[in-house]
Amino acid sequence: MTSQRIALVTGANRGIGKEVALQLARDHGLKVLVGSRDLAKGKRAAQEIGYGADALQLDVSDPVSVAEAFAQIMAVHGRLDILVNNAGVDYDTDQQAHRADLNRVRRAFDTNLFGPWDTTITAVPLLRRGEDARIVNVSSGSGALSDMSAGTAGYGISKAALNALTIKTAAELKPYGILVNAVCPGWVATDMGGGGRPVPDGAKGVVWAATLPATGPTGGFFRDGRAIDW
Ligand code: NAP
Repeated sequence: MTSQRIALVTGANRGIGKEVALQLARDHGLKVLVGSRDLAKGKRAAQEIGYGADALQLDVSDPVSVAEAFAQIMAVHGRLDILVNNAGVDYDTDQQAHRADLNRVRRAFDTNLFGPWDTTITAVPLLRRGEDARIVNVSSGSGALSDMSAGTAGYGISKAALNALTIKTAAELKPYGILVNAVCPGWVATDMGGGGRPVPDGAKGVVWAATLPATGPTGGFFRDGRAIDW
């Protein structure tokens, strides 16, 4: 079993997830597992990231894929130190809650809420074998109840639910020294963002939460390392 710390980033074949994986490997010396629902894309991204990054087939909305991915991590590494729940879909600016397509909303929930929930449940036994374990849920200001308004029905409500999951798991996992936080990366120039600030800037706040010291916060909502309102 290697002494190098091990991080899994979901949805790491492109966008913020890929940059988070790069920063964790390059700047923090972690062994990074590049979660990707398409293994070929994950392998390509892992090769571009370098620093010993490995690809892992992982569709967070598919319970079989989640179970197999974590069984593989257990078999190869015997533990996990950091879980970054980054995979997310469907920034539905074209939908309003009062006339939403609920099938579409359910699909968003499958990836944005039930995905991270399933990976968290499955990861906890491995994280408890890890050291200074951390979970980061990549959320969004769209999920902040304090600032919620019309539109982005499925996305905003799924991220609000992800924030609630963050608070509950943080409280439950505190006795094990596992810190759990939600991070909004800000508006970032990825395929999803379609504009916004450079991807490395958005990724930085996620990496900050993934590498918090044992004295760091848990059960919080952050942007750029600063607490924001739920
Ligand atoms: P992106 O460029 O659209 O990338 C999304 C990533 O998630 C892709 O790698 C995608 O894989 C993966 N993914 C989607 N569904 C998946 C599933 N079921 N299982 C595993 N992977 C899946 O988005 P991004 O901007 O990097 O967003 C990353 C996170 O930041 C998301 O949680 C998003 O909600 C959040 N966020 C983004 C912004 C922004 O401005 N960009 C703002 C606030 C929050 P494929 O390549 O296979 O589709």
